[in-house]
Amino acid sequence: MAERAAGRYAPSPSGDLHLGNLRTALLAWLFARSTGRRFLMRVEDLDRVRPGAEQRQLADLAALGLDWDGPVVRQSERLDLYGHAIDRLRAQGRTYECFCTRREIQQAASAPHGPMGSYPGTCRTLTTADRARLRAEGRPAALRLRADITEYEIVDELHGVYRGLVDDVVLRRGDGLPAYNLAVVVDDADQHIDQVVRGDDLLPSTPRQAYLAALLGLPAPRYAHVPLVLNAAGQRLAKRDGSVTLADRTALGDTVEDVVSALSCSLGYSARTPAHLLRQFDPAVLPRRPSTFDENGLLQPDGCP
Ligand code: GLU
Repeated sequence: MAERAAGRYAPSPSGDLHLGNLRTALLAWLFARSTGRRFLMRVEDLDRVRPGAEQRQLADLAALGLDWDGPVVRQSERLDLYGHAIDRLRAQGRTYECFCTRREIQQAASAPHGPMGSYPGTCRTLTTADRARLRAEGRPAALRLRADITEYEIVDELHGVYRGLVDDVVLRRGDGLPAYNLAVVVDDADQHIDQVVRGDDLLPSTPRQAYLAALLGLPAPRYAHVPLVLNAAGQRLAKRDGSVTLADRTALGDTVEDVVSALSCSLGYSARTPAHLLRQFDPAVLPRRPSTFDENGLLQPDGCP
């Protein structure tokens, strides 16, 4: 039987969630629940993991009043799945080993005909002898996609048609672990996720991911990239910006309902619980501009009713 469609939240357990993360999680939950979808929780723990962060993140999301279906999925427990996808791309002749260091990539000029900021393709044409020499030097090899296009188009529910860069994205990192862009595509398809709601800082990565999905014969989900919460200087909110986590807010005397209320307010609603917000939620009227966390620690409302 076909699994019911699903949305998801996919936190990286690198620290506590701040108000911007909590707002994105709330939005992902609202998008899924308001459209009758399941809502899945996936911990993206292939990168920096801070001990205890996963437990605190999940506890904060639950405390806020968000619920999810089924067990929490962890990427570190699904390495075979990513390995199989990489094998399929390799069998299609679509991969190559890359020995470049981060610094070398930054220093190299972009490919003459490639878009700015893309991997210049230094290792694309290495010979077997070149590769043997680099390996003998002890250089770790990442595995890259041999992309045959430089741009790909996706449709986003908030941003409309978005055309963006596709380059020879890393599939397997130099340390042998799968890269984020590959893992996210494999997971979303495997978990029957057909609605991806996440911060709009990830919009530029989306054409790469949709292209990868197409190469793997996987359906691309619908995307909704939602505005972020910024600090007073207009940068993406971070932990150093003050009292930005649920624990920080409660230490200042806020209740969980106060926090949900502030998040709701920043989205143009008045609600003290996610369940109450769900009854009013309409993605069509979502603010398109980011919200700001000001010096007083308050989310500046985009339009509090
Ligand atoms: N793990 C990513 C993050 O926390 C999100 C990836 C995604 O939603 O696709 O930024």
